[in-house]
Amino acid sequence: MDEGDSKSHKSVSEKLEAIADVVSECRKCPLAETRTNTVPGEGSPTAEVMFVGEGPGQDEDLSGRPFVGRAGKLLDELIESLPMRREDVYIANVVKCRPPGNRDPERGEVEECSGYLRQQIEAIDPLVIVPLGRHALGWFNPSLRITASNGKIFRHEDRVLMPLLHPSAGLRNPSNAEMLREGIHNLREAILEGIRVKREAIAEPEVATRPSDGDAEAPSSVLEEAGKIASDEAAETDTGETPVGLFERAQTPEEVQEEMRKQRAIEEAAEAAENEEPAVVVDDRQSSFF
Ligand code: SF4
Repeated sequence: MDEGDSKSHKSVSEKLEAIADVVSECRKCPLAETRTNTVPGEGSPTAEVMFVGEGPGQDEDLSGRPFVGRAGKLLDELIESLPMRREDVYIANVVKCRPPGNRDPERGEVEECSGYLRQQIEAIDPLVIVPLGRHALGWFNPSLRITASNGKIFRHEDRVLMPLLHPSAGLRNPSNAEMLREGIHNLREAILEGIRVKREAIAEPEVATRPSDGDAEAPSSVLEEAGKIASDEAAETDTGETPVGLFERAQTPEEVQEEMRKQRAIEEAAEAAENEEPAVVVDDRQSSFF
């Protein structure tokens, strides 16, 4: 890890720790009265993929960690099947305290807690968000239905949504488990789509028409490769594409992480190259999301 990565990692870690500190003291809604522990979330500060569930269950309430019960074990299996590792991603919930009896969180509770999730997303800035279950999906886009959306890829503002059934649904029903196993494998395509979205944001029209300095200096990269893939496709579709490029080369979790680290470095180099441009698209997308 170079110094730049280290600083970025440290900065995001500090933001996430600050959010968790505030959450630990939060009493903005009635769920504070019945919780054992707050469950702010955990994972890599530089995660490209963020999983978002509805709220903590009993195991999570007792441990203070997200998705550690049986549903969490299934989620771990799904992540490892890619192959990735739990520590490569970030896992959070819409509400940070357990609703009693695992009931659905009420609207007011969600509204009070939503700011923490927004801050986490802004800090981590993932390429892909995976809402787990209909309630989490509804937080992002209430017009989507979870069963019809499972494993499908949607552009959402400046990033990508790829909803999945909640893992607990997979524990209840083998056909749901099969849907989850099929759906998670579209994450590869979702990451590539997320790279395309970011690449497009960096190469806005006024940047693209400049003299060729930026392109000439840009190193050969996963980002470029994703762009070639995008340009090779006659029409962009959200599903049904065979994942290529990033995951063709990266077969182990370490290789996947290395490719993602390279992609981060390239994005930062590209952004640095565009610093003289008035339109900082990355800033726009962060503010527009919220
Ligand atoms: S659920 Fe969220 S808003 Fe409610 S007390 Fe917990 S942290 Fe605060």
